[in-house]
Amino acid sequence: MIDVLSAQQLVLQQAHRKANTTLPFGLNCLYQFLATDILAESDSPPFDKSMMDGYAVRSADVVKPGAQLHVVGMIPAGGTTSVTVQPNQAIRIFTGAPMPPGADAVLKQEDVLRENDDIVVSQPVRAGQNILRRGSDMTTGDVVLHKGTHISPAVLGLLATLGCAAVPVVQRPQVTVLATGSELIGVGQQPVGSQIRNSNGPMLAGLAQACGAHVNQEALVPDDPTLLRSAIQSASSSDVLILSGGVSVGDFDHVPKVLGELGLITQFHHVKMKPGKPVLFGTLGGTLVFGLPGNPLSAFVCFHLFVRPALQTMLGGTPITTPVLAPLTTDCHSKHDRPTYAPARLHPHGVEPLPWQGSSTIRALVEANALQVLPAGEFHAAAGDSVPVLPLFGQ
Ligand code: AMP
Ligand code: MG
Repeated sequence: MIDVLSAQQLVLQQAHRKANTTLPFGLNCLYQFLATDILAESDSPPFDKSMMDGYAVRSADVVKPGAQLHVVGMIPAGGTTSVTVQPNQAIRIFTGAPMPPGADAVLKQEDVLRENDDIVVSQPVRAGQNILRRGSDMTTGDVVLHKGTHISPAVLGLLATLGCAAVPVVQRPQVTVLATGSELIGVGQQPVGSQIRNSNGPMLAGLAQACGAHVNQEALVPDDPTLLRSAIQSASSSDVLILSGGVSVGDFDHVPKVLGELGLITQFHHVKMKPGKPVLFGTLGGTLVFGLPGNPLSAFVCFHLFVRPALQTMLGGTPITTPVLAPLTTDCHSKHDRPTYAPARLHPHGVEPLPWQGSSTIRALVEANALQVLPAGEFHAAAGDSVPVLPLFGQ
């Protein structure tokens, strides 16, 4: 049986970066990936500007408290002046306004006493004080954002600063999610007998969307080869098809057989790991097909180990496959026959293993922001020992 690392390499060999496109600037760009470097087309700030509400002055005039200056004008943010500040003159200025010619410092308004059109200085300023210099944030030609950057709200703000009205992004992979299982019902239905609600469908679709992909369909399919075949065929134009359930060796596990009949080129089926051993991956035409086991924890772990790196690669990002080391917050003992990926919570001070037995499984996932990688065999570690963990959602 193939190990996790080799399986991940097979996935990465099949996943290719999508083509570039441009989007009109806006919230629709959030959480996508920049397709090219973004250069500053002008200096920012574009002029020397006041960082305070106060008075633009010549620092040479205000070296001592008690200096008196005559106020000869006013510049609000968004305004300008052509008046030059002459010796012993000041111009009233507000935060964000451009510095007038002649002035080389801004006196805070709290540091002066105003008397009609004059001010008396209580606190001297040095040259350059309270001024943000032109180009201090970025100068023309600077590479301000690098290709592959994840567009966070802060990046969106920076793109706005740069006047980037058409944002170059990598096309989003189209993803179809099919939850298979005759026992499954939708969220609005009441279970009868042994029916259960489909939690994997929304969870996997949400995970794919959180990676930056576009989910074009999320549907339920019963354990019926004919219905399964047509559902899979309906996803043929998708870049990625994620199936959950029916991927093992039971009589009703039709997924591998139906995919085989449709021409799947299988890359792997079964991986040396826990949970998630029956996971299947292959290509069908231009579609990457992931068959994830139906157990919600298995589906969640397999998504992060195999589907996420594929989507990250397609989006031009860096696939996350390598665990980081973090100190345990408590002692940890385990015994597994395969390498195990256990829900865990990464805190600033270390990693806390989470309980994940039986029906509480999906509840543990709500707490989890990482998977602790436990080796096969007996494992004992004490609080403070470093252990490998794979962060979730970290981009
Ligand atoms: P399977 O991989 O089809 O053998 O399913 C393994 C277990 O996961 C069974 O107990 C299923 O009922 C459950 N299961 C399968 N699919 C889902 C789903 N979409 N949502 C919640 N549980 C599921
Ligand atoms: Mg099933």
